[in-house]
Amino acid sequence: MAKPDYIICLECESEVDEFTWRDGEIRRASCDVCGNNDPDAFALPEDFDQDFEDDDLEGEDDDYLDDFDEDEEDEE
Ligand SMILES: [Zn+2]
Repeated sequence: MAKPDYIICLECESEVDEFTWRDGEIRRASCDVCGNNDPDAFALPEDFDQDFEDDDLEGEDDDYLDDFDEDEEDEE
């Protein structure tokens, strides 16, 4: 597994790019925002259920648009 560009602090959900990556795991991490430095309290972006907007998600949101039919509201 390749080292991700950043990881997510589970305490404050910030993106953190100051971390040590080894053997496919987060070995050390430190969140500048909340001071969290427990490697277990960080998640990979792909493991994290992202509720917030992220420019990196280009193209991945196309599928849900198919289920969202705006025309149905004009039924009257
Ligand atoms: Zn944090």
